[in-house]
Amino acid sequence: MKKKMVSLVLCACVALAAAGCGGSKKFNNPEKGGTLIMATNAYFEPYEYYEGENVVGIDVEIATAIAEKLGMTLEVEDMEFDSIIAAVNSGKAHIGAAGMTVTEDRLQNVDFTDPYTTATQVIIVQEGSEIAGADDLSGKKIGVQLGTTGDIYASDVEGATIEQYNKGMDAVQALANGIIDAVIIDNEPAKQFVNKAEGLKILDEEFVIEEYAIAIAKGNEELLDDVNKALDAIIADGTVKGIIDKYITAE
Ligand code: GLN
Repeated sequence: MKKKMVSLVLCACVALAAAGCGGSKKFNNPEKGGTLIMATNAYFEPYEYYEGENVVGIDVEIATAIAEKLGMTLEVEDMEFDSIIAAVNSGKAHIGAAGMTVTEDRLQNVDFTDPYTTATQVIIVQEGSEIAGADDLSGKKIGVQLGTTGDIYASDVEGATIEQYNKGMDAVQALANGIIDAVIIDNEPAKQFVNKAEGLKILDEEFVIEEYAIAIAKGNEELLDDVNKALDAIIADGTVKGIIDKYITAE
């Protein structure tokens, strides 16, 4: 399937060479010296969050390093998590970097770069909760961030009621207020959110291991190759590890 796409694009380029086809016109990719637009949801510390008016975090720094390698400048577009894949496919953004997990379902709609880190899904509960693990979630009220993998896992829990929030912190606040019984969310943001609320804890059980990667418009082989080359280079030279270690300190 991928091979077919490449040869189609190549044919189109050969056919259009005389008309000056310098790349994939279909995708309006940024040129060297141009702006690489990253779609994200900036409420997911330590991956992306506001510091004053600026969006900072692991994903922003990795994307900045990729943009630099490609001779481009990074611009961040903050939006709902649920809108990122559509933004990338419509060309509103060139890349989606949002602690986004590679899933089979998403791969139907979007392409992903090589993974740049792993994460786990964890369960947050109130300190005195009777919920001690995933098996105790049946029939409970579970809060999630809309459209995330936590949302998908929660929907598999027997008899549970799912409350979807636009921001992870809103789900965690609802848990602190006793409106819901648990939150399923990514481990590092979970630590940040629990620190900002009262009386909550993260269960030890990490029930799914996931890989984060950068989303690129479906079929945009040219940009995918460029971003992968840049990403692989900054993984190999330790830049990515340095960025992650700056934001996440080992316990
Ligand atoms: N890793 C989760 C997902 O991809 C959550 C990402 C997020 O909320 N930014 O669905």
